[in-house]
Amino acid sequence: MPNAALVDQNTQFPKSVIKLAPGIWSAVGFAASNVHMIEGRDSATIIDTTESTQAAENIRAEFRKLTDKPVGRIIYTHSHRDHISGATVFAPDGGVPVLASDRFSSDLVAVDQGAIAPNKALGRRTQAQFAIGLSPEDRINLGCGPGDRPMQGLGAGHIPPNRLIASDCDIDLDGVAARLIMAPGETEDHMLVWLPDQKVLFGGDNWYHAFPNLYAIRGTPYRDFAAWAASLGQMADMEAEVLAPGHTLPVQGAAMVREVLTTTRAAILHVMTFTADAMDRGLSMDDIAATISLPEALADKPWLGEFYGKLSWSARAFATGTLGWYDGNPTNLGRLGAVARAEHMAKLAGGQAALMRAAETAVDLQWRLELCDHLIALGEPAQALKADTMIALADVEINATARNTYLWEARRLQSETGARDA
Ligand SMILES: [Zn+2]
Repeated sequence: MPNAALVDQNTQFPKSVIKLAPGIWSAVGFAASNVHMIEGRDSATIIDTTESTQAAENIRAEFRKLTDKPVGRIIYTHSHRDHISGATVFAPDGGVPVLASDRFSSDLVAVDQGAIAPNKALGRRTQAQFAIGLSPEDRINLGCGPGDRPMQGLGAGHIPPNRLIASDCDIDLDGVAARLIMAPGETEDHMLVWLPDQKVLFGGDNWYHAFPNLYAIRGTPYRDFAAWAASLGQMADMEAEVLAPGHTLPVQGAAMVREVLTTTRAAILHVMTFTADAMDRGLSMDDIAATISLPEALADKPWLGEFYGKLSWSARAFATGTLGWYDGNPTNLGRLGAVARAEHMAKLAGGQAALMRAAETAVDLQWRLELCDHLIALGEPAQALKADTMIALADVEINATARNTYLWEARRLQSETGARDA
């Protein structure tokens, strides 16, 4: 039985087009990310465009039931690929303004350079995190979006931005007043769209209904915790009536919007102060990760569930991002390689056969994984045991990206060993 809270997170992305205010809608649950439409006098504005042309086409078909006005402009809240890859569907003839922050720095560059090819570290880890290739039964969700989404035209419909915005500015969306606001958060190039008359705030990925992904295990450079927290404070002060995030359902009502933004800001600040204090006390990174939890006042907030980001990984990222990888314990200045450590372990255990028995009978699943790694380093056939252990861990895991990665790597080990044994 998979983690019940993670299964329940699926209620955050029901396939639906939600009216936020007159002439303003969000399409949720059609793709990994949401698409928003603002109807103007003679044209519509599209905010974000999903990860694939097929998902974008499905949303366009829904939007056409609401208005047949042509798309007059596209705005990207940030450069993550799941927001910028369906633009050609909304502007098939091109030629429309495509607005983004002048810090826009697309992950698509990495695609062009082959960095997310499956044989590269980033490619393999990206596929694992997003459960690409896993069976529908294995894939519950992405933490921030549905597990079941169209994959045709993945990454195929990007239009590079042609109007780069350097600083906060007012803009007319064909009769709808808007303000574009620079607000670094999940990425440095985040740009909010604020409609002051309707009090609707499009926040990109600076907030979604899940603990913020301060570190993505697919592999990301350090995300600026302090800047993200500051942007959440700025967003809370805008007193929006509706918060339309880049993932998960919109939040309605000024008090609720303020509540989700201020508590998420507090959660990020907590990771920073807890980790800094633990480093001051000389705790190792492993111990910081093993002991961090949310304070009581935040722990019961459903939107801080660790479905997407995770506290322990965030603490490690903050420690590494501020003081670097060295945790202050000189033992760790020259750690042994995997084979040397495994040889010592086997000797302590009374030989490789005894080490194998210890792994097979270990109750602590994490410890069993660590023993499997020693055995594999020594050339012992512990791959099947490691795969089974990861599958067992996946079942209790609340974090979708961890669950997907355990299962993806387990399936890969199984197919590798299956191919070798055949
Ligand atoms: Zn996103």
